[in-house]
Amino acid sequence: MPIAANYAALTPHFENAEEAMGRLIARATASDLVEVRMSTEVRSVEGGLGDWSITVEGPDGSAVIDCGAVILATGFQHFDPGGETQMYGYYEYPDVIALQDLEAMLKTENVVRPSNGETPTRLCFVQCVGSRDRQIGNEYCSKVCCGVASKEAIEVRKLLPDCEVFIFYIDMRMYGYWENDIYWPAQEQHRVQYIKGIVTEVLAKGDRLLVRGEDTTMGRPMEVPMDIVVLSVGMEPSAGTRTLAQLFGVQQNKFGFIDSVKAPMDTVTTSVQGVFVCGAALGPADLEDCASSGAASAVKAITSLRLRTVAG
Ligand SMILES: Cc1cc2nc3c(=O)[nH]c(=O)nc-3n(C[C@H](O)[C@H](O)[C@H](O)COP(=O)(O)OP(=O)(O)OC[C@H]3O[C@@H](n4cnc5c(N)ncnc54)[C@H](O)[C@@H]3O)c2cc1C
Ligand code: SF4
Repeated sequence: MPIAANYAALTPHFENAEEAMGRLIARATASDLVEVRMSTEVRSVEGGLGDWSITVEGPDGSAVIDCGAVILATGFQHFDPGGETQMYGYYEYPDVIALQDLEAMLKTENVVRPSNGETPTRLCFVQCVGSRDRQIGNEYCSKVCCGVASKEAIEVRKLLPDCEVFIFYIDMRMYGYWENDIYWPAQEQHRVQYIKGIVTEVLAKGDRLLVRGEDTTMGRPMEVPMDIVVLSVGMEPSAGTRTLAQLFGVQQNKFGFIDSVKAPMDTVTTSVQGVFVCGAALGPADLEDCASSGAASAVKAITSLRLRTVAG
């Protein structure tokens, strides 16, 4: 996702996303122990622990892959903020964008109002779009969006020092050390303005946007003009996560993410023997979580095969 979705710099250390991910891709593709099949889809699966037969379809036709264990790493997709329950005008107003849209602009160091190409003087983030929302059934917190929005806010302030940047939040949920890495520097060094409030809708007013809601600290309605509104969209299971979960018959939670049935001490074992899961297919996660569960799932997969050999 970080490359496909044009993430610019990674939270929390501002490392170039393409370079960081590129190193991992280069190691995998250069290894004799790894076979990478691009643009290839799993069509059907048979078997179980120790003898899976997986039929795949790719550019060279279909093939059957025999393997002992499987790790599902099919990740997430961004919440669609333009659904009918969402009153932000994402598909209506060009200057209403999502986190990943701003990432793409930051990557080219060209943050402008999509409607007219002008440099914004007021930009805000709206937190928890598609997360922590009982109405739509996504009650979970997506974990990364407070940190990612704060990181992007810093980048906008550095790139456009004359642009005021606001973050409207319900609660700020910084993740571990991200508090010191991102949150305090955003306020103290970069003058990002955090406003505790609930945004109910975004409207057009003249050639600007009007953000309407309630300032919950002051306990009064608010209406603030903006040039760009950035929606901090949450994470949902990807289509691939849903499809492969069904093909392998692994248990999913009510949101569609794959369940780790031995959590919390074992976060990667699914309900089907010989099938493991890692990364954001498990639920909202940052890259550190994904690297940890990726390594854990590899170890679990190998161990399951070794134990089977010893027992057999
Ligand atoms: C806007 C935004 C910004 C973020 N920025 C950061 C950040 O700066 N730092 C950070 O730590 N975290 C960040 N995150 C979180 C981070 O993106 C995720 O933790 C991470 O990408 C999850 O990795 P993953 O490999 O599990 O899943 P993904 O990145 O979703 O990758 C899954 C891969 O599986 C492939 N796939 C899916 N289905 C199939 C299928 N059926 N067959 C074959 N392949 C398939 C997909 O094409 C994709 O390549 C951000 C999240 C968002 C929403
Ligand atoms: S990380 Fe922040 S923006 Fe994202 S769902 Fe949690 S509280 Fe909301």
